[in-house]
Amino acid sequence: MIPSEGISLVMLTLGNTKRGQRGIRARGMRIFNELLDLIFPPHCVVCGAGGAWFCSACQSAVVPLPEPGCSHCGRPLTRPGTCHRCQLEASHLLSITSCSAHRQPLRQVIHAYKYRGMRVLCEPLADLLQVAMRAHQITGDVIVPVPLHRARMRERGYNQSALLAGALGKRINVPVIDDALMRVKNTPAQVGLSREQRRQNMSGAFRCGQVIPAWDIVLVDDVCTTGATLEACAEELLRVGAGSVHALTLARALCRYQAEPNRRMV
Ligand SMILES: [Zn+2]
Ligand SMILES: [Zn+2]
Repeated sequence: MIPSEGISLVMLTLGNTKRGQRGIRARGMRIFNELLDLIFPPHCVVCGAGGAWFCSACQSAVVPLPEPGCSHCGRPLTRPGTCHRCQLEASHLLSITSCSAHRQPLRQVIHAYKYRGMRVLCEPLADLLQVAMRAHQITGDVIVPVPLHRARMRERGYNQSALLAGALGKRINVPVIDDALMRVKNTPAQVGLSREQRRQNMSGAFRCGQVIPAWDIVLVDDVCTTGATLEACAEELLRVGAGSVHALTLARALCRYQAEPNRRMV
């Protein structure tokens, strides 16, 4: 046997072994999860019904944002067009699309997913993202999740946006780049801050250590409040070469009158 053939054979064997180990591990995890389901049967985190962690009745209660919405940020309007804020402020994002308002039952599911360690909810939540992408005809070359700062990652153990991006990527067969962005500023909680304070808070919070091709990027996050985080991510992605950035989130924070059908003019 010539040396290169020998090396190829060893590489092939190692590859097969690794694939084999992965297969055994995946089967092991599946059996482990089935056993867990037997001991702790799934029940809906919203209504408590047995059979699933986010039951189909509660899933169907997640309705799209009211129409018509702002052509850029999706906020409900009384007539088609662009909202006042989007007309006044320049944006690095092509648009922001959200599956629904940040209201029940979606709010409760996102809370359980983020703060109660229920990673399993990533799958039904990724289904919602896929539906929103299709409904709004969003396409992209790659998916990039909004990153967590190292300290927050240690605390939580996982990045909820990265898991969502991964599950969405598998569904639509689009590559996911988990490490395109780094969160270099550990920004404090943004609750209670004004739109301008949030923007200043997020300025320079993200870094991309590589030049990227002129891809059309789908930027994934769980909740959009003012859009300051998404804007800061998009600014950095465009700085390093991205062609365009389209934001996709599960939920959109709206004030009460925006989320209700008989709303006032925005
Ligand atoms: Zn339910
Ligand atoms: Zn708008």
